Amino acid sequence: MRFGTKVIHAGLHADPATGAIMTPIYQTSTYKQIAPNEHKGYAYARTSNPTRTALQDNIAALENANYGIAFASGMAAIDAVSRLLKPGDEIIANSDLYGGTYRLLVNCLAPYGIKMHFIPINEASDVKPYLNDQTKLLWIETPSNPLLSIIDIKSIADLLKDHEAYLAVDNTFATPFLQNPLDLGADIVVHSATKYLGGHSDVIIGVVAVNDESIKDRLTFLQKSAGAVPGPMDCFLTLRGIKTLVVRMQRHCENATHIAHFLDNHPKVNKVFWPGLSTHPNHHIAAKQMKNFGGMLSFTLHNDTLEAAIKLMANTEIFSLAESLGGVESLIGHPASMTHAAIPTNERQKIGVLDSLIRLSIGIEDYNDLIEDLSQALDKL
Ligand SMILES: *Cc1c(COP(=O)(O)O)cnc(C)c1O
Repeated sequence: MRFGTKVIHAGLHADPATGAIMTPIYQTSTYKQIAPNEHKGYAYARTSNPTRTALQDNIAALENANYGIAFASGMAAIDAVSRLLKPGDEIIANSDLYGGTYRLLVNCLAPYGIKMHFIPINEASDVKPYLNDQTKLLWIETPSNPLLSIIDIKSIADLLKDHEAYLAVDNTFATPFLQNPLDLGADIVVHSATKYLGGHSDVIIGVVAVNDESIKDRLTFLQKSAGAVPGPMDCFLTLRGIKTLVVRMQRHCENATHIAHFLDNHPKVNKVFWPGLSTHPNHHIAAKQMKNFGGMLSFTLHNDTLEAAIKLMANTEIFSLAESLGGVESLIGHPASMTHAAIPTNERQKIGVLDSLIRLSIGIEDYNDLIEDLSQALDKL
């Protein structure tokens, strides 16, 4: 099955009871047993639920994985992956990272005796000096949030071949339509399915995809033991969103192309961060490992002040000032004070999240309206 068919059919079956085409929302906490512990594969809904099973099977197919495991949020998924580690282990992660992931690793995991190295990563050679026998997890985000940095996934997977460390990729920005990290040698793929997979800003949910059976067993064990599971309605909404992933992503990418070039040529804009621009330092890597360049973009102003950024955001009309991303509607945000506020100011500036940095989640509206909106807001500066 090709990707455009998988999003609509993979892992899904007409309901055996009624023939319903859409996966039913099995809104139940428990299931009638035939005899003690003799049942139809479902005993209690924290452990398993048919709507969740359908979503997990669908996600596995999209990432060319053997297994999918769904969680109550992207952070719950990342938390489960982080619990593969034990005291004394070390993590290497790219410093340009989703703020919530940084917070989880530093404030929730480090106190248990796990050491973190946050470093700028482009390719394997950046990781090598930090790699040792304690390294158990390489955590990378590509494209990264909010600077749209690109990391060469395959070069890092190759480096780890002789090490006992997992390579985990947060694939939220790319989506499985644009990039499949497991095919490039990664061990674990994580999505905040809240974003492009759900696609309609109406659900909080996370998923993990893996090939290795022992990692799947451990994550499934954590899923039922810690209990951060998504409800059946959330799984249904995510499955429904995924059906249009291909057409949405095509439009997100097309719109982003127009807007990136518009901003790149605008006199008030300093730098545009979008991997599709030939001036992006790792454009060639993005072109190699992604099908297209995605709908997320950020930029700085020549007037690099908080005031200018706030004024611009106050004046957009179609772009709503909001956290999150990946929905059909366009959003504008200010990483320094919003998504990345959990990172201390000096750390933040060191990694390039400047005061005037503005992040756009480009929706699927008519791009002419989006450009006119940004244009009038920039004119008011
Ligand atoms: C939003 C986001 C997360 C966290 O996901 P939630 O569903 O909000 O818990 C993790 N990684 C990235 C890249 C994100 O954008």
